[in-house]
Amino acid sequence: MKTLKDFNFENKKAIIRVDFNVPLNGKLEVTDATRIQAAKSTIIDILEQGGSCVLMSHLGRPKGFQEEFSLRHIVKSVVDVIGCNVKFVEDCIGNKVEEAVANLEAGEILLLENLRFYEEEKKGDVAFAEKLSKFGDIYVNDAFGTAHRAHASTTIIAQFFEENKCFGNLLAREIESIDKVLNNSERPVLAILGGAKVSSKITVIENILDKVDHLIIGGGMSFTFVKALGGKIGNSICEDDKMELALAILKQAKQKGVEIHIPVDVIAADDFSNDANTKILDINEIPDGWEGVDAGPKSREIFDTVANQCKTILWNGPLGVFEMESFAGGTIALGHSIDKATRNGAFSLVGGGDSVAAVKQFGFAEKVSYVSTGGGAMLEMLEGKTLPGIDAILK
Ligand code: AMP
Repeated sequence: MKTLKDFNFENKKAIIRVDFNVPLNGKLEVTDATRIQAAKSTIIDILEQGGSCVLMSHLGRPKGFQEEFSLRHIVKSVVDVIGCNVKFVEDCIGNKVEEAVANLEAGEILLLENLRFYEEEKKGDVAFAEKLSKFGDIYVNDAFGTAHRAHASTTIIAQFFEENKCFGNLLAREIESIDKVLNNSERPVLAILGGAKVSSKITVIENILDKVDHLIIGGGMSFTFVKALGGKIGNSICEDDKMELALAILKQAKQKGVEIHIPVDVIAADDFSNDANTKILDINEIPDGWEGVDAGPKSREIFDTVANQCKTILWNGPLGVFEMESFAGGTIALGHSIDKATRNGAFSLVGGGDSVAAVKQFGFAEKVSYVSTGGGAMLEMLEGKTLPGIDAILK
């Protein structure tokens, strides 16, 4: 796996695919610079070696040129985070860019305009990728969030750099972290899958059954399993058409020696709202008019015990409707359990959409071993897929 360490960037121009797809408010100001922060180490390493950085990214889903999606709006944030001047060019291909790249000196940063102003980017157009490739001596991919897309700047471009291509520090760390969980893990290994639906996680479950010793199935998806096993789930969310599959998964787990842990009790609510009436119920005995919205106290205790028996922990998906304060307790308790396990030497990886939002919201981001930056990309890696953006560097 080639990384920055395999190159000397002195007097070289690095063309770096970063993920600066950051949220902006109504005044077009960056409201969360985490993704810019995540690219900092790669940029600094290259600058310190005497190289220069040409940064390319997408922002949002523009249809052709749309001013509100211009990367111009994020320049100030990039300057604040990286701590040095950033030049901006209002296109990502063409004469203006060629000129700006030619004038770029060692130690300087140039940010190109939003790649997705050209539909060729998402189409993975080879000619467009070749034009981008002219702006650097070495191609660095540091955008994990788009590594599962075979777009021009994330994948296709790599073919124009035979040997001169590598992973940036962020992408390398993402790959290493997932590898540490799936392939080079210290056992016992625990995966916690929560969230709303079984259907969105089936391929993940099937792939990780070969890799883990314990699997906690929590959140909304647990009710499909409970109902399939004959429990009464009241109005809890359930995918009836996935019940057979749920039973098949349980059978497979048994054959593979994986211990499955489903909540035994729940916080049930009489309405899907933060100020609903609630009570603690056995997960198999939820009456009509009530729905399970969070893991109950006994379940939290069981999950705590399991987490603290394990040396490797993967967490994807909340244990309840954590967006509502009244139903966030199970997810917070799990965060504390993983924090404790991590302090006792376990390796813990949190990734995939909502669980990342949850760990950040509840202050666990610094307490787990690694928080992944890519939602869809992370899920595809957990499904056992080879991501095109990663493959293109390895080839
Ligand atoms: P996912 O994107 O599949 O990880 O699902 C995350 C969503 O699952 C969050 O928005 C949670 O509110 C939701 N969720 C978790 N537990 C439940 C539950 N018991 N009932 C309904 N939704 C839930």
